[in-house]
Amino acid sequence: MSKKLTKRAEDYSKWYNELVVKADLAENSAVRGCMVIKPYGFAIWEKMQAELDRMFKETGHENAYFPLFVPKSLFEAEEKNAEGFAKECAVVTHYRLQNDPENEGKLRVDPEAKLEEELVVRPTSEAIIWNTYKGWIQSYRDLPLLINQWANVVRWEMRTRLFLRTAEFLWQEGHTAHATKIEAVAEAKQMQDVYAQFAENFMAMPVIKGVKSDSERFAGAEDTYTIEALMQDGKALQAGTSHFLGQNFAKAFDVKYTSKEGKQEHVWATSWGVSTRLIGGLIMTHSDDNGLVLPPKLAPIQVVIVPIYKNDEQLDAITERVNSITKDLRKIGISVKFDNRDTFRPGAKFAEYELKGVPVRIALGSRDLENGTLEVARRDTLEKNTINIDEAVTYIQDLLMDIQNNLFDKAISFRKEHTTEVNDFKEFKKALKNTGGFISAHWDGTEETEDRIKEYTKATIRCIPNDAENEPGVCVLTGNPSTRRVLFAKAY
Ligand code: AMP
Repeated sequence: MSKKLTKRAEDYSKWYNELVVKADLAENSAVRGCMVIKPYGFAIWEKMQAELDRMFKETGHENAYFPLFVPKSLFEAEEKNAEGFAKECAVVTHYRLQNDPENEGKLRVDPEAKLEEELVVRPTSEAIIWNTYKGWIQSYRDLPLLINQWANVVRWEMRTRLFLRTAEFLWQEGHTAHATKIEAVAEAKQMQDVYAQFAENFMAMPVIKGVKSDSERFAGAEDTYTIEALMQDGKALQAGTSHFLGQNFAKAFDVKYTSKEGKQEHVWATSWGVSTRLIGGLIMTHSDDNGLVLPPKLAPIQVVIVPIYKNDEQLDAITERVNSITKDLRKIGISVKFDNRDTFRPGAKFAEYELKGVPVRIALGSRDLENGTLEVARRDTLEKNTINIDEAVTYIQDLLMDIQNNLFDKAISFRKEHTTEVNDFKEFKKALKNTGGFISAHWDGTEETEDRIKEYTKATIRCIPNDAENEPGVCVLTGNPSTRRVLFAKAY
C-alpha cells in the first residue's frame, strides 16, 4: 500500500479516511457501520480516557457499570427520549439459534426462543440507570449521586464515518442526581467546562461553549450544553454534550427523595458524554498532508529515536547513549520509543513516524556520537535542529510543550480566520461559500427559520454561545427582531 496520502485540498474526506487507515488508527470491519480500533488508535483513546477519568474523579464522580440491554418497557418510560432514539435502536428479539432444517450447515433463529419482552441495545443509558437509581435514592442524604460509566453504545446510524459517526461507539456517560434544579444546572455546566478544558488543554483543540437550540437538543433534555470545534475543512464538530434533564427521568421512573423538611420531591438530573468521535476531531484539527499530527499530551509515543548505523559495533555504541537519554526522559514522564529494528531503513522509519504523528523524532548516528550532537525533528512544523546531546533532555521537554502550545495557537488562528459576522442572508451565503467555518448571525429564535436556513444552505445552529452578548438586531432570514447572535455552520 502506498504511504502517500491524498492531499487535503484535493479531497478532504478521502484524505481523512486514508489517514485513519494508513496511520494504523482504525479500519472498517465486517459489521456494517462498526469499526475495529487498532492498537495505535486505541492507545490514543486510552490517553484520553485517563485524563478525562482523572478530571471526573477530581470533580467528585465515581465509575460504575450498567447493563448493555434495556428492556423495552423501561426504554419507553421517558417518552421524549424514547421517541428521539427509536429510529436508531438495535433490538434483541430472540435468545437462541438452532440448526436450520432447510439449510444444512446453517443456523437460524429458534422461533421457540422469542423473548417475552424485547431488549433494546442501549443507545444511551438514562432509562436503565434511572430505573436503578429508584432503589438508591430515598433521602436528601443520598444526594447528589455522581456516577460515570465507560461503555459502548449502539445507534443505528445510516451514514457512518470512522470515529466520527459509527453504529457502535465507545464513550463515557455521566448520570447525576441532585436535590435542586440549581445544583443540577450547575453540574451540567461544570461538565461542559471539564470537556472544554480537556479539549483545549490536552487535545489542543479550541472549542466554543454554548447551548443548543430546541431542534438540536438531546431527546428528553431541558437544555443541552455543547462544545463545538471547527475542523480544517470549515465544518463544525459537536465534540461533547452535557444535558440538564430537569425532572423528566425522575418522573418517568418515580425517583423521589425525602427533603430535610420531610417532603417528597422528584430528583433533578444531568447526563453528559464524549465519545471516540474525539479522535476524529483530533485528526481533523491538526493533521497535514504528510499524515497525523498529535499534540504531545495525547501522543502514545512522544519521542522516537532512530539509530543511523552501518554495523553492530556502531549500533552498540549508539544504543548505550540512547539508553541513558531514554532513562532520563522517562524519569520526567516522557514516553520514548527506541526503534532499533534492523528490518527497516531509517528513511522508512522516518516516514512511518511522520504518518503516525509522533511529535518529536531524534536521529542519532555515529558521527553524532563523535560530535556529541543529535538531530531533533518536530512533527508540527517539520523543522530539524542539531543540538548538543548534553542538552537533549531539557531541550526535548521544552520542545514538547512548545509543540502543544503551537498546535493550539494554530487552531485558534484558523478558527478566527474562519469565523464571520454577517448581517443579511446574502452575506451569510457568501461567507459560507467562501470561508466556510462559523457564521455569527442574528436569528429570530424559531425552529421554522432554523429549518429553512438548513434547507437553503445545509448550515445548522451549532450553538448559542455562552458568551453571546445582548445585541439587538434582526434575523438574517426573516428580518424579525433578535436579541443576540448565534453560531451557524455546516457540521459533521
Ligand atoms: P449524546 O448522548 O447524543 O449527547 O451524545 C454524546 C456525544 O457522543 C455527542 O456529543 C457526540 O460527540 C458523540 N456521538 C453521538 N453519536 C455518535 C456516533 N454515532 N459516533 C460517535 N460519537 C457519537
